Amino acid sequence: MPGLAGLSEPPRTAEDKEQLAGLRQIRGFLKVRTSYDVLPISYRLIMLDTALLVKASLNVMIQNGIVSAPLWDSRTSTFAGLITSHDYINVVQYYWQNPGALAQIDQFRLDALPEIEKAIGAEPMETISIHPDRPLYEACRRMLESRARRIPLVDIDDQTKRAMVVSVITQYRILKFIAVNVNSTYQLIKPLKMLNIGTFGDLATATMDTPVIDVIHMLVKKNISSVPIIDKNGILLNIFEAVDVITVIKGGIYDDLQITVGEALLKRPEDFAGIHTCSIWDHLGTILDTIRKSRVHRFIIVDPKGRLQGVLTLSDILTYILLEGEFPDEPLP
Ligand code: ATP
Repeated sequence: MPGLAGLSEPPRTAEDKEQLAGLRQIRGFLKVRTSYDVLPISYRLIMLDTALLVKASLNVMIQNGIVSAPLWDSRTSTFAGLITSHDYINVVQYYWQNPGALAQIDQFRLDALPEIEKAIGAEPMETISIHPDRPLYEACRRMLESRARRIPLVDIDDQTKRAMVVSVITQYRILKFIAVNVNSTYQLIKPLKMLNIGTFGDLATATMDTPVIDVIHMLVKKNISSVPIIDKNGILLNIFEAVDVITVIKGGIYDDLQITVGEALLKRPEDFAGIHTCSIWDHLGTILDTIRKSRVHRFIIVDPKGRLQGVLTLSDILTYILLEGEFPDEPLP
């Protein structure tokens, strides 16, 4: 995992010491705050019943502008995991392997997702969760250990003694919470170039003419959430995200998988937030400042001419913040 190397290296320069002091302040902060603290005063939570048709769930996602949702099994009144764009990608993979089964796929309900995942040999759906009273640091560690990008907060209802999903927290929310509340982020002064963070070599990329299905295969093969779109000179033009798959297969239409990336990107909702870029000379202090001000999904690292150099994801940042310069704590129970 990038960002883990150099864990045991002692700080050498004044800059190193400043950086480490900043990181330790953030970790201290995460240890005394709980996941409840991250939640806004009022928020909405959309849960999907596992009896819902997969194609109907796509519409719910699009209409509500969400890209994931906790699942609820109303037969057993239990929390049944979290659906994300990666689960829809699994359905696409299944369709691709079984194009004759379209009528059957059309009738898939969300409770069929584990079977689909098993059939294509994919990782099972994410079912980790955490009690909202647990320290935020623990929630972060659990996310990093399981490679989940978000974690449901599950409490027990006092009266019924049943599990109750309170909310879902994402890596973005946690990083924003840090950026808003921790002053020491200004101590993170080392440029990205000096940190072992992000991915630079062997990047999965595509062009505007690449068929969407090829990009989906890349997302699966590398277990990543986005593929930068570049031109023939390597200039960054756009990015295809795992969540874009939701709009491509909206309404359960799988024929559109043959379209090109350029055509698929035209289907994006009008409120698409855009792409954030940065340079290898930016430091985490400014990166966190951007996270404080806008909804960032990841940073694409470009050179002064706009040529793609690397990818810095939210999990890269969170991993670095939690683990750099520390021996990782004992694995969580
Ligand atoms: P999300 O972006 O959904 O919040 P994440 O932060 O885990 O999730 P991923 O896109 O899944 O991000 O990235 C996982 C790892 O793969 C990261 O270390 C990242 O630097 C690397 N990575 C991301 N995109 C690419 C790519 N196109 N090519 C190669 N490596 C990538």
